Amino acid sequence: MTQAVQLMPEVEKFLQEPRKLLIGPEWVEASSGKTFATIDPARGDELTAVAEAGAEDVDAAVTFARKVVESRKWSGMRPADRGQILWKIADLIEGQKFELAQLEVLDQGKPMFMALAEMDIAISTFRYYAGWVDKHYGETIPSDGNMLLYSLREPMGVCAGIIPWNYPLIMASWKVAPALAFGNAMILKPAEQTPLTALKLGEIALEAGAPPGLLQILTGAGETGAALVEHPGIDKIAFTGSTEVGREIMRNAAESLKRVTLELGGKSPNIVFSDADLGTAANMSMYGVFLNSGQTCTAATRLLVEEKIHDDFVGSLVEASAKMKLGHGLDSETRMGPVVSAEQLDRVMGYVETGKKEGAKVISGGERGNGDLSDGFFVKPTVFTEVTPKMRIFQEEIFGPVLAVTAVKDVEDAINVGNDTQYGLAAAVWTSDVKKAHRVAAGLKAGTVWVNTYGIYDPTVSFGGFKQSGFGRELGRHAVEAYTQTKSVWVNLA
Ligand code: NAP
Ligand code: MG
Repeated sequence: MTQAVQLMPEVEKFLQEPRKLLIGPEWVEASSGKTFATIDPARGDELTAVAEAGAEDVDAAVTFARKVVESRKWSGMRPADRGQILWKIADLIEGQKFELAQLEVLDQGKPMFMALAEMDIAISTFRYYAGWVDKHYGETIPSDGNMLLYSLREPMGVCAGIIPWNYPLIMASWKVAPALAFGNAMILKPAEQTPLTALKLGEIALEAGAPPGLLQILTGAGETGAALVEHPGIDKIAFTGSTEVGREIMRNAAESLKRVTLELGGKSPNIVFSDADLGTAANMSMYGVFLNSGQTCTAATRLLVEEKIHDDFVGSLVEASAKMKLGHGLDSETRMGPVVSAEQLDRVMGYVETGKKEGAKVISGGERGNGDLSDGFFVKPTVFTEVTPKMRIFQEEIFGPVLAVTAVKDVEDAINVGNDTQYGLAAAVWTSDVKKAHRVAAGLKAGTVWVNTYGIYDPTVSFGGFKQSGFGRELGRHAVEAYTQTKSVWVNLA
């Protein structure tokens, strides 16, 4: 396989040693001594060994985090100084952008152009929340004239962020930046498939001047996450991942009544009407589903096309997808990398078989990458037509480069078919008719609706799910709700 870009010396050095946990001020091995391998999904090679945190390590991290919280070392700091540290984190990410992007490519498999764009999102998220440190006011409340009544917005305390492997540093920044901005400490548990950039973020936070224990990084498996959910010293869990694990976290968090926000799966409908700019719609719909090899919670996995343009539209989309070059993410020509792991490959190929058995028609892809690509976990961009709402490939989140196409008659039909899912994370509509666009946007049950575009995010805009896609909102001013609690203070003036 060609590899046009050389690894940076910093990246090589980072991968030479087994990586440790960040607990308090120090990098330490897991108390059990256990490690696990993180691998390059484009080649199947081990990149390095990473410490696997267990319950004892979770306990040690919680002790440090509680110290930071109880001492008010962070929440009591002048907000402007706290903001400076968050801004510094952004600057340091920016300074190491290429190194971080290479690590993300190696660990996750995505192409370099995406990894670089993702570093920019992480940077802007830290900068956006650096500006929030002194803007989450409480209120004064008119009441009895003999009372002064006001509310304070206080931090939750110790938060744990449990994140998935699809956009590792973005997911980390969406949780760490607001948690810290609003005065909390955070223990971050990256997915076992992609621990590397979270570890770098730990280094960066210390270098930026964050007090030890403010941001701690515990790499590990699902059990590490479960130990965080169980620990009584943690006040809040911010989770992004599958609906199944989200449900389990909610059940387990009930024991200690932890606050929970859940960003879960999706099966987003992407609706294309005949009056849309069809060239742009085809191109964006193709990226909407295949970007990141389909491993995006908002991926445009259900394409609902108006009947009369169905064949032509699907034809242009398939033509565009055939030009997507598969390869190692470090190769600058690569547009699509592998899926993240052997398990994910099996899962995706399993769904391809299911779709065929259910009677849907594969019109492109439907197989693994071959030749040079056979050592990695590559799946060709796959398009199924003749998909009906009863089929599993229409209903279930595949999390791979697999598109399900269904023809729809009109606005009513599009809304009904679009909402025929347990999920409600995102949706899109393509039309040049303003009334139609707003009717569809109003009718779809989803936390985000894009009109004549797809897959755009910004730290200023809140993000989250309806239905089984979770609850709570990240980003924008809504993160204030996720990371603070209000206290009402009554002062008797009589
Ligand atoms: P996952 O299996 O749900 O894992 C997510 C995180 O939870 C990982 O760090 C995982 O650790 C940890 N975990 C696993 N079991 C746990 C438990 N019992 N208690 C506490 N933590 C536990 O999801 P994934 O496979 O990483 O990611 C794919 C899924 O995430 C897809 O369904 C996708 O739609 C969803 N997702 C949603 C969003 C969103 O914003 N809504 C964004 C990205 C992904 P391990 O890594 O060790 O398993
Ligand atoms: Mg990996």
